[in-house]
Amino acid sequence: MKKFVSLLLAAMTLFVLGACGSGTGGTDENGNAEETGSGSDKPTVTVTTSFLRDMVTQLAGDKVEIEQVIPAGEDPHLYVATPDDLNKLEDGDLVLYHGLHFEGQMVDALENTGVAVSEEFNEDDLTTMEEDGSEVVDPHFWFDIDLYKQAVDEATEELITLLDDESITEQATEYKQELDELAEYNEEKITEVSEESRYLITPHDAFNYFAQSYDMEVIAPQGVSTESEASNADISDTVDFIVDNEVKAVFAESTTDPARMERLKEDVEAKGGEVEVISGEGQELFSDSLAPEGEDGDTYIDMYRHNMDLIVDNLK
Ligand SMILES: [Zn+2]
Repeated sequence: MKKFVSLLLAAMTLFVLGACGSGTGGTDENGNAEETGSGSDKPTVTVTTSFLRDMVTQLAGDKVEIEQVIPAGEDPHLYVATPDDLNKLEDGDLVLYHGLHFEGQMVDALENTGVAVSEEFNEDDLTTMEEDGSEVVDPHFWFDIDLYKQAVDEATEELITLLDDESITEQATEYKQELDELAEYNEEKITEVSEESRYLITPHDAFNYFAQSYDMEVIAPQGVSTESEASNADISDTVDFIVDNEVKAVFAESTTDPARMERLKEDVEAKGGEVEVISGEGQELFSDSLAPEGEDGDTYIDMYRHNMDLIVDNLK
């Protein structure tokens, strides 16, 4: 309870500070100058994830300072905000987050202070999934490029309001054209895998929107949250599925432990089957994070192409 109250207080503080919109840093409670925004007159946009860092960079990279809360490679489902993160949220003139309970441990603070880029999504466009026996909205919307474009629209609106700068609309139009080109590339690339080989097996359940987009069947023995371990029954069902359907490859993710997929391989071999585990540097699927800045896959478009190429090249 105490934790909740302090979280609520933090959230209320954020709201007040956010509404001031100074963007030039200021001082912390000890009177020391804060790092963020120092020496810059640009407003600060605080984002939760690497996806949103990239999105804001594409739309207004030269007009704002960007602060990212959850580092690339960390798991947003489980990430708990540090005091330093709360400072970043306080300093943000605009706070953007995914929503749909993706940032599962930061929901209260974010709902009170930020704007979810998924805010205007139509419920009918969202898919649900099972988590601990109950039906939840699947938060991994970014693998549906149409939904990602809607998120871009939401961010665009917020940035125009923040900056009072209509030229962001042009940036958005250009960026969405690039997203359309990405969609065309994907439509073409997936045809290299025959329809009866379109099985995507990954540790956690991040690829339902991806699977829907490309007529794939996705199996994730670990379920929606990276928090849960795969049950023995799920593993056993997955092993049977791989053997029965002669699935060529299973995929590790950059944010989950590849050992889980190695265990699948051993169990498949014990049943006389054969499957390859795709893992290791440059060979992992990006699910809940882009690559760290400066590495391959550090933009949404590069990340998506990397995933598509990795999947198709190992299943065809
Ligand atoms: Zn996830």
